[in-house]
Amino acid sequence: MSDFDENKQDGQEYEEICFLCRRPESKAGKMFHMPGNLCVCDDCMRKTMDAMSHMDYTSMMNPNLVSQMFTPGMGKPDTSEAEEDDAKQQITATSTDTPDGTEEREDSADTPKGHGFPNISFINLADLQGGDMFGRTKIKKKKKGEPSKPILELKDIPAPHKLKEKLDEYVIGQEQAKKIISVAVYNHYKRVATGTMDDIEIEKSNILLLGPTGSGKTYLVKTLAKLLDVPLAIADATTLTEAGYIGDDIESVVSKLLAAADNDVERAESGIIFIDEIDKIAKKKNTTSRDVSGESVQQGMLKLLEGAEVEVPVGANSKNAMVPLTTINTRNILFICGGAFPDIEEIIKQRLTKTASIGYGATLKDAFDKEKNILRKVTVEDIRKFGMIPEFIGRLPIICTLEGLNKSMLIDILKEPKNAILKQYQKLLALDEVDLVFSEDALESIAEKALERDTGARALRAIIEEFMLDIMYEIPKDDNIGRVTITRDYIEGKGAPLIEMRGTM
Ligand code: ADP
Repeated sequence: MSDFDENKQDGQEYEEICFLCRRPESKAGKMFHMPGNLCVCDDCMRKTMDAMSHMDYTSMMNPNLVSQMFTPGMGKPDTSEAEEDDAKQQITATSTDTPDGTEEREDSADTPKGHGFPNISFINLADLQGGDMFGRTKIKKKKKGEPSKPILELKDIPAPHKLKEKLDEYVIGQEQAKKIISVAVYNHYKRVATGTMDDIEIEKSNILLLGPTGSGKTYLVKTLAKLLDVPLAIADATTLTEAGYIGDDIESVVSKLLAAADNDVERAESGIIFIDEIDKIAKKKNTTSRDVSGESVQQGMLKLLEGAEVEVPVGANSKNAMVPLTTINTRNILFICGGAFPDIEEIIKQRLTKTASIGYGATLKDAFDKEKNILRKVTVEDIRKFGMIPEFIGRLPIICTLEGLNKSMLIDILKEPKNAILKQYQKLLALDEVDLVFSEDALESIAEKALERDTGARALRAIIEEFMLDIMYEIPKDDNIGRVTITRDYIEGKGAPLIEMRGTM
């Protein structure tokens, strides 16, 4: 069975894709079927016909040009072997001899390409090998007329308290943030599952997460997507630039989501996009040059956040002639933006002292200096002052802050979550039938070291990995070891871990 027939058979699954512009059938309309199982859309067919009618046929007789066309691997028409030989002879005839008698074929290619063939470039078939040129790139077909079915049914959406309970198993602390997110996500997917509610359209609940680095912003979103079983794309705002500049297009975040959803458009349309480091696209202060990676990116993101149809390449990050495009509606995609917003505390403090220092009850200027988690008092005004444009903040109606992690939270992160680091190591050593124990003061010492590094919980793994290396290397050497206890002394480099042999335990 030919590729095309196969395509037809499971035509429910795959769309045909125009060989020239790479648009799928759903975008480009009906396809013309060409010999060799190629499909060409109506537009490209018309353009080709137009180009042909303007062609300078007299220059086609130029043997140099013929040789260009028939260089190996180029778009070769179906020639018989005898004709091919003829063409080769012509090439040989036009090539120049070098002093040492060898022939330089490239010379003939030095003549200006495309002479006589306006607007037509020949496709190198070799490039397509391995690629899927017969429209079998997997884009799931959208059934016409049928409204797309939500991937989450109303009954499947966990109620906010259930969602928070689940989040509690993984994310330590951040109670307020977990609560806000659970409610926002519940409302969002309820809105998605029901379409619109009567005449009142419930507004989209995109979220802005503020919190110091390593406080669990990404982790929270990852856990959320896993619990809900929806696709998630994580993008870094620092790599985004306005379209046309070096960097990723803003729309590339949507194609990442499509990839995360295995090219299933319907699944992607109800996924989550997390854009990290959003504070890095704040408006640049005192700049006269065009701000292609700051304010322009915020501007460019507006329509995505709100809900728009975007054309994204399937299976690649950038649009080019060789990748098929598909349309994704971002209306139901939940956008979560996260950032550390360094120094926003200063802006908050300034605002608080300003309002507090009017009248009799005037507070001292440094009254808020000692206050912990001042971030919790953030307002839209502060974020705007930081450099986010009002239209952008307006599209992230839910603002949620995460607190910096303290020592006891770090200790809990080490041992409590379902996939806690300590549990992971304990499981690894249990496979060798060795019991791994951490004394309480050892955990405290690890947490203290992590606090010094000031990168939140991220430092924990790095610290543990440093000293676990020796343990993981030495322990399997001796089958008699039954238990290893990690002590504060060992963490601080003042002693060895406590080793107990099997018989003595
Ligand atoms: P950021 O806030 O910079 O996005 P991450 O979410 O990437 O920080 O956190 C880094 C790692 O630290 C996570 O992979 C996770 O294992 C751990 N972590 C951070 N915060 C928490 C938390 N509150 N509860 C459990 N683990 C956490």
